[in-house]
Amino acid sequence: MEDVRLRFAPSPTGPLHIGGARSALFNFLLARKLGGKLILRIEDTDRERSSRESEVNIYESLKWLGIDWDEGPDMPGEYGPYRQTERLEIYQKYIDSLIEKGHAYYCYCSEEEIEEQRKEFSAKGELPRYNGTCRNLTEEKRNQFIKEGRKPVVRFKVPENQMVTIDDMVRGTVNFETNGIGDYVIVKSDGIPTYNFAVVVDDYTMKISHIVRAEEHLSNTPRQILVYNALGFETPKFAHVSLILGSDRTKMSKRHGATSVVQYMEKGYLPEAVVNFLALLGWSPGGEEEIFTVEEIIERFSLDHVSKRPAVFDMDKLDWINGTY
Ligand code: GLU
Repeated sequence: MEDVRLRFAPSPTGPLHIGGARSALFNFLLARKLGGKLILRIEDTDRERSSRESEVNIYESLKWLGIDWDEGPDMPGEYGPYRQTERLEIYQKYIDSLIEKGHAYYCYCSEEEIEEQRKEFSAKGELPRYNGTCRNLTEEKRNQFIKEGRKPVVRFKVPENQMVTIDDMVRGTVNFETNGIGDYVIVKSDGIPTYNFAVVVDDYTMKISHIVRAEEHLSNTPRQILVYNALGFETPKFAHVSLILGSDRTKMSKRHGATSVVQYMEKGYLPEAVVNFLALLGWSPGGEEEIFTVEEIIERFSLDHVSKRPAVFDMDKLDWINGTY
């Protein structure tokens, strides 16, 4: 049997919010249920928006919730570290291989040129995208761009007329056509890889068997599967869990109350009650019972009972669970 390895891969761009905590919890529950391992990976390639302060907030929030990981960043007495910015050499090897095999190429187009191309597609009623100009650049043109001091990005060459099928453990079969995606950037002009590329190399090299993450990443998944295919990697199992809405059925935001875990910690909520509440955001244990210890949740947890319908964050329910616990 394959080894079960899951990961929680937050971007440290702010405190751990409810949605992130729910993803972390589902991964934790599944790892414990299936006797697998949970890996914590800090996705900090967006250097401007990432901070160590957010990273620390994420660890503290996870610890408070009792979500512990088996491998991950280096804290005193703990495991690690996995931070994307410390793995740049690993990514480089795979970038070189993609370029060598013709699955990726350097692109020297300026932002203005790209904006122009996007407008042209929009004017034709098509999805705005990159038009592939640099796919077949002549040596002469390339040298000219280099002389002009243009800094290239690396783009992934998206195959045309293909269908990418995701066999999602929550959503069922989801199909995406490759036409309309456009060759996307996998390495920025500062040499740092983008999320859609780094995540594939990481999930593959860390031998992740199941990717459980928020639905907002569903449209990234075909881009990632194309990279898996180009590198000849087997794809893991995917599960995209639904959005969390506020009580008025609009996307959960600060208007709906506290959105980060640390706020519940500061208000004196019981971590077990918050875990119980988070587990019920999208997962249904079946039956009437709603108060569970984490052990009971682990015992009953399965992706088969995770709904693809949006989950509604009901503060009264949280307060009820917290009061009953
Ligand atoms: N770093 C991404 C985020 O925080 C998660 C990516 C993933 O789980 O694949 O939204």
